[in-house]
Amino acid sequence: MTQLTGRFAPSPSGPLHFGSLVAAVASYCEAKSRHGLWLLRIEDVDTPRVVAGASEQILRDLEAFGFAWDGAVLYQSDQFEHYQFYLDQLLAQGDCYACECSRRSLREHGVRTGPLGQIYPGLCRLKQLPVANHSLRLNTEKASSIGFSDRVYGEFALNLPESVGDFVLKRVDNVFAYHLAVVVDDQLQGVNQVVRGADLLENTCLHLYLQQKLSFATPEYMHIPLVNNALGVKLSKQTGATALDHRHASRQLAAALRHLGQTPPAELGNHDPAEILRWAVDNWNHALIPVPPRTAAEGIQD
Ligand code: GLU
Repeated sequence: MTQLTGRFAPSPSGPLHFGSLVAAVASYCEAKSRHGLWLLRIEDVDTPRVVAGASEQILRDLEAFGFAWDGAVLYQSDQFEHYQFYLDQLLAQGDCYACECSRRSLREHGVRTGPLGQIYPGLCRLKQLPVANHSLRLNTEKASSIGFSDRVYGEFALNLPESVGDFVLKRVDNVFAYHLAVVVDDQLQGVNQVVRGADLLENTCLHLYLQQKLSFATPEYMHIPLVNNALGVKLSKQTGATALDHRHASRQLAAALRHLGQTPPAELGNHDPAEILRWAVDNWNHALIPVPPRTAAEGIQD
C-alpha cells in the first residue's frame, strides 16, 4: 500500500500567524490520523520576498507548538534544477512559450481579470520569442474545464482558458512560479495529500493541469476555511496578522482546533502543546470542518 504523505508548506515571508497555525494543525491531523507522514517544506522559491530569519523562526514556532515533522526539511531554494528540468520538458513538448507582455501593457490592452487576476489571452503564443529575458507561460488553450473533488468544499471546477488564461511558470526576473514549484515538489516528495487554505482552491485547478502536462500523479486535496480578521479580511502577513506567541501555544492550538470545528475539552487548554496535538490526532474528524460561503479568491499570482 502506498504510504499516505501530507505536508505543511509555509512561505518564509514573515513569521507564522494564527491562520498558518490552522493550516499546520489541519494538515498534521489529517496526515497523522490516517497514519501518514507529515513533511515540512519551506516555500522560499520567490527569493526576493524571503524575509531574513523567517525560515528559522517558522521551525522554532512549529517546535514550540508541539509539531514534529518526518524527514529533513525541504527548501525550494535547493530545488531550482528540478524546476528547470520540468520547465524544459514543457518547452520541448510545446506546452510553454516565451512572453514579452508586462502587467502594465496587458492593462493598456484591456485584458479582463478573473479570480486570479489578469486573464492572459495568449498574445505571444505564436511569436516564438527567445526563452532568455522573457517570462514563460503555460499554454492553456486546450485545457477547458478542470475540476476535482475537495474533501471539504466538494466538487470544484474552473474553466482555465476563460477564467485564468496562460499562466506564468517562470518570471522575467528568472524566479520560478509557485505553481510550477509546488507541483514538482509534491511529485518528487511523494505527497499524495494536500491540505491548505481555501484561498488556493482556484490555484489547485492550475496545478491539476500542470500535473496532466507532466504526467504526474494528482494528490487528494482538502482546503480549509480561512481565518479572517475583525474586518472580515483574510488573516495574512500583508493584513498585519500578529506572529504566534509561544507563551500562549496551548490556548492558540485549542482555538485553531475550534476554528476547524473540532471540540477540544476546556481543560485541554492547560496541557502541553504536544499533548493537545495528540488529542487532536486521536479525535480528528474532518467532516466537522465548517464550510463557509466563499468570497472572491485571493490565490497566488505570478
Ligand atoms: N506556501 C503557501 C503559503 O504559505 C502554501 C502553499 C501550499 O500549501 O501549497 O500560503
